[in-house]
Amino acid sequence: MLENKVGMIFGVANKRSIAWACAESCMNQGARLAFTYQGERLRENVEKLTREIDDTLVVPCDVTNQPEVDAAFAAVGEKFGKIDFLIHSIAFAPREALEGEFLTTSREAFLTAMEISAFSLPQLALAALPFMNEGGSIVTMSYYGAEKVVMNYNVMGVAKAALEASTRYLAADLGKHGIRVNAISAGPIQTLSARGVKNMGSLLGYVGEKAPLKRNVKASEVGDTALFLVSDLASGITGETIYVDCGYNIMGI
Ligand code: NDP
Repeated sequence: MLENKVGMIFGVANKRSIAWACAESCMNQGARLAFTYQGERLRENVEKLTREIDDTLVVPCDVTNQPEVDAAFAAVGEKFGKIDFLIHSIAFAPREALEGEFLTTSREAFLTAMEISAFSLPQLALAALPFMNEGGSIVTMSYYGAEKVVMNYNVMGVAKAALEASTRYLAADLGKHGIRVNAISAGPIQTLSARGVKNMGSLLGYVGEKAPLKRNVKASEVGDTALFLVSDLASGITGETIYVDCGYNIMGI
């Protein structure tokens, strides 16, 4: 399905990362991939995970460092000559902002969460544009806390609301270039980032009971939806937020 397509994957921290599930789904369908990592701390993890993959590239890319972002895209452009799709699967907020009341969020935590979790989407889309000259697809990861209050999710919910709005505005801007932009609103999954949200364990239990499918979603199911969105099967879909949450979001009382 993705033979001759080149993808750039942002947000692999380890094998539990949603970005890694997306990468596996896309590689199984023939995509060639470049991976970015944030900081030396994660370099070894990502290099180990990707060691067996033929024809790949692993480059540093902290989105708060614009020269590093530019260098990452230049390296991918040099190796592959183009980018067909981009998976944006990164977010961050200081741990102290992910518990207690939203009311007391500091200016610093608010701006950090917004910069890394929301601004990075238009930032990376702009950097990808010169390499997407045959059109393309961009997929980002959101969460239900963007639209409803989820205890402890706090400033990250506000950042995800900005991320979903950014998805729509980017879709409007980039449609003329044949580039589609969509978000996946994933149900809770036990990953490194998720562990930063207080009481994640009880949230998983609650959602697993209440969701129509009576379970939590698997990262591989999010990966397969990302595969669909970057493939030509989704050629008519842009600006959407698609739920991959075992149906949790449709439930009322
Ligand atoms: P991971 O911790 O595996 O992935 C998050 C990634 O974001 C990490 O690789 C992290 O690197 C990276 N990141 C943080 N700061 C920066 C930065 N400045 N520059 C570049 N990368 C950075 O967790 P997930 O796979 O769970 O998260 C992926 C996405 O999915 C996030 O947007 C998350 O909000 C979203 N999501 C997660 C859900 C869940 O329940 N797990 C549910 C719905 C959405 P580092 O480890 O160095 O910080």
